[in-house]
Amino acid sequence: MRTPLIAGNWKMHGTVAETDERIAALLPRLSTVDHADVAICVPFTALQAAVDSTRGSQLGVFAQNMHHEPQGAFTGEVSAPMLAELEVGGVVLGHSERRTYFGETDRALQLKVPAALEAGLQVILCVGETEEEREKGDTERRLRHQVQEGLEKVPSDRLGDVILAYEPVWAIGTGHVATLEQAQDALAFVRALVADRDKEQSKRSRILYGGSMKPDNAADLLALPDCDGGLIGGASLDVSQFTAIVEAVP
Ligand code: 13P
Repeated sequence: MRTPLIAGNWKMHGTVAETDERIAALLPRLSTVDHADVAICVPFTALQAAVDSTRGSQLGVFAQNMHHEPQGAFTGEVSAPMLAELEVGGVVLGHSERRTYFGETDRALQLKVPAALEAGLQVILCVGETEEEREKGDTERRLRHQVQEGLEKVPSDRLGDVILAYEPVWAIGTGHVATLEQAQDALAFVRALVADRDKEQSKRSRILYGGSMKPDNAADLLALPDCDGGLIGGASLDVSQFTAIVEAVP
């Protein structure tokens, strides 16, 4: 009932030329994929090129951030309607790198998530604990805060439209993937948090795992009962690895 999503988060990688090249290599390999949605999350400067070269294909294009206001005196920012105008399909919000390096707060996300939905964008809202929080036994408290705040202003009937990504910070870019048990427990906990707001909507919620997902661990992670796909960093920059992860969807 939930179509899995494999999303490649390119982070700050990809000139226009590199984007065109990578998409040209990717599209033929995805032409037979009908069991999963596939998307790439590219830098702002590559969005137009990515939208143009994926038009009519099954590859979606996401941005990696946006401002909650539609317009205004916010130098350097980009709004949801601006992304929608480019025909971008969605946006990643609250990635741990934005939280760590750019001061993104749960309070800001509370405004960004509904603003993105309002503009017709899909949202991937990222949550996840740090290593220190896990060691202190604070994982659930952290996830509860991030999910509750991030979804607070989303109308109940749209809760299931928000894609959540559980990305333990200690697993991002480290090669230390979560164990299957850690991943399933956290994914199920995130779904239960959505269910606290609305049980029916939580059955629609797509919840992704992210953090050192690679071709050799993807099949096991993607087979977890509460795993509806993956948010892939490093491995998404390599067309063969990314394709192998897409093919690992059960
Ligand atoms: P890695 O796959 O490189 O660990 O990155 C995960 C991530 O941050 C995806 O958003």
